[in-house]
Amino acid sequence: MSGLGISAPRLLLRRLHQVMAGHGDAEQRLNEIVRLIASNMIAEVCSCYLRRAGDVLELYATEGLKKNSVHQTRLRFGEGLVGDIAARARPLNLSDAQSHPQFAYRPETGEEEYHSLLGTPILRGGRVIGVLVVQNRTRRTYTDEEVEALQTVAMVVAELVSSEQMVSATEFSDTAGNATLPHHISGRVLAEGLASGDALLHEPRIEVLRTISEDRAKELARLNSAVSAMQSTVDKLLNATNTLFSDESKDIFEAYKMFAHDKGWLKKLQDAVNTGLTSEAAIKRVQDDTRARMKEITDPYLRERLSELDDLANRLYLHLDGHTQIDRRNLEKDTVVVARNMGAAELLDYDRRHLKALILAEGTRSSHVAIVARALGVPVVGQCETIIDNVEQGDFVLVDGEHGQVFLRPGEDVQQAFAQSQQQRARRQAKYAALRDKPNISRDGIPLQLNVNAGLLIDIDHFPDLGADGIGLFRTELQFMVRSQMPKVDEQTDLYSRVLDKMDGKPVVFRTLDIGGDKLLPYLKTKPEENPALGWRAIRIGLDRPALLRSQLRALVRAAAGRDLSLMFPMIAEVSEFQEAKAILNKEIERAAQRDSGPPKSVNVGTMIEVPSIVWQLPHLLAEVDFISVGSNDLMQFFFAIDRGNPKISDRYDTLSPSLLTLLRNIAEHCEKAGKPFSICGDIAGRPLEAMALLGLGYRNFSMSAETLGRVKEMALSADIGRLENFVRGLCHSRDHSVRDQLRAFARDHSIII
Ligand code: PEP
Ligand code: MG
Repeated sequence: MSGLGISAPRLLLRRLHQVMAGHGDAEQRLNEIVRLIASNMIAEVCSCYLRRAGDVLELYATEGLKKNSVHQTRLRFGEGLVGDIAARARPLNLSDAQSHPQFAYRPETGEEEYHSLLGTPILRGGRVIGVLVVQNRTRRTYTDEEVEALQTVAMVVAELVSSEQMVSATEFSDTAGNATLPHHISGRVLAEGLASGDALLHEPRIEVLRTISEDRAKELARLNSAVSAMQSTVDKLLNATNTLFSDESKDIFEAYKMFAHDKGWLKKLQDAVNTGLTSEAAIKRVQDDTRARMKEITDPYLRERLSELDDLANRLYLHLDGHTQIDRRNLEKDTVVVARNMGAAELLDYDRRHLKALILAEGTRSSHVAIVARALGVPVVGQCETIIDNVEQGDFVLVDGEHGQVFLRPGEDVQQAFAQSQQQRARRQAKYAALRDKPNISRDGIPLQLNVNAGLLIDIDHFPDLGADGIGLFRTELQFMVRSQMPKVDEQTDLYSRVLDKMDGKPVVFRTLDIGGDKLLPYLKTKPEENPALGWRAIRIGLDRPALLRSQLRALVRAAAGRDLSLMFPMIAEVSEFQEAKAILNKEIERAAQRDSGPPKSVNVGTMIEVPSIVWQLPHLLAEVDFISVGSNDLMQFFFAIDRGNPKISDRYDTLSPSLLTLLRNIAEHCEKAGKPFSICGDIAGRPLEAMALLGLGYRNFSMSAETLGRVKEMALSADIGRLENFVRGLCHSRDHSVRDQLRAFARDHSIII
């Protein structure tokens, strides 16, 4: 049997157009449509199932199956192949449907004689409203063109079903998507803060009101003019942000621009219009395709690229004449942007005066957009899976980026409670600002160093406002992550010099690249690993690919010519790794001495303590390093064998467990004996109660995320460390799961503010 010819979709669409415009009630027209599809696709069967209340799919029309099964055959979402197509919202193409484990036999349909099956969901406004299926007796695989043709036809059916209200809207009034009731969603904090505003859908829903165009040539011209307008806006955006933001954002914009001019993507759109679709329907078709591909792809880089294409489709839709456009650069009121996911560049596209918060259906703390949002001070709650189905444009939203909560259309009581939390937070911020210029000395007169963690140039710009002593951890990988290609030595040198210039003599500890694990570089292709956190990452990559480490060290040494340089290596598991890395550094220092600019004035070299094994080699390590810094995020992950990114187990062990405290004390003791400076730069350094325990364990140098500095400083200034030491060290011998309660009680009894 031959496949569907390439011109056939056009013919089919023209016929469907006639049916749509013709006489008869909706069901008669639907019958006519399935008949036409069957004959055009040379299929023995074409059936249309529509969604009814309670997530049931009911057979509404069929060509080929027994007529008396219409309105009789019903399948639940997820049941049988039709239910599977609806539940997954994606097409299914099977040459032998009956041998598929999901196949559910319905005797009343007489479908046992048909072997091959192609089905596609019927989508409207992002919701599955039905399923369209063709079947053949022979075992055949439908071609990609046929899959696309059926998807296109499904759009026409969607138009008929909705415009004629073939299933009453009231059937769905009690299901998700009810846009009037208050709704609460729990997600994860990706950037801290509290904010409220009106929801703005980052991906405006592409409304396809008309599927088939009247005049193909005119429609193509309409599409092409929208494409040019969209391209010129993207180009302008790139030029405008070129001066506004530094190198790290530029590459993202460049990649974006490339997509806007991508010939393959534009051709797909034109082809779809050429088959007879309106531009809106063509954009939607291509977008649905991208989304379906996105669901299949696990590579985060490719997913991010596809999500950029998805965003461009939305932009293009807005450029079609007849649509009003929201001017992201000039928002009129406080706005909470809602997106499935987003690239960092797109966030920068919004008017910063009115962008109050961001809600993502996906997203992780290490995604680019979260990194940039934190630098901009925009709260973000991510992993709110149901947000897109529940939010409507303009809904009032409260975003609690302290507890990872989102309140859609909140009632009076929730709004009042939220306003109180906001006031409390504002009071706290004011209090911390007042502490800014106070020296970092504990109540009993012990000097402390309170540093911040950084990684982007925007972080450095904010540094003077923080009242921090320096940067205790500069995560250099962030600069690599936001680029589309490996930065060259000169670019890296320029960047590190700018960091040192801006810091103007205040200390900065650069950490060499810590990539791998969940921090992937788009341009460094690595094989997927079963346990990436335990895999080829950080210094392991640096030592296996010395050219990479060497180029970074060269850049750091050059940038620090005539100045002080502090750097450390991540994930050191044994002394020999440090020695190997240090040897590469020494060569670079010697090299720099031959240059006119000369070597750094001083070089301090340390390691992170993140892998438990190195703790057992500390006396040897300390004889060789200038300092160490405890990376408690990874140290805890490896100590307890607990994936730091897995929310299911994140509460199983406490950071204030006696065993971890003993380990931390042990590290401090070795350093004290060896007379080597030590600090801590993991997440716990930024939590007041944990930081209090650390003071008791001997730690005096902390590096934390900028927004936690005020709270930790307030605690540290109110602490009597002498007393704490006796108490906390005693707790190390406890058998309890956690000593959190005892520490809280101590803080309360000794007026330590936590
Ligand atoms: C750590 O592991 O504690 C650390 C600071 O490094 P990162 O969070 O970048 O892995
Ligand atoms: Mg780490």
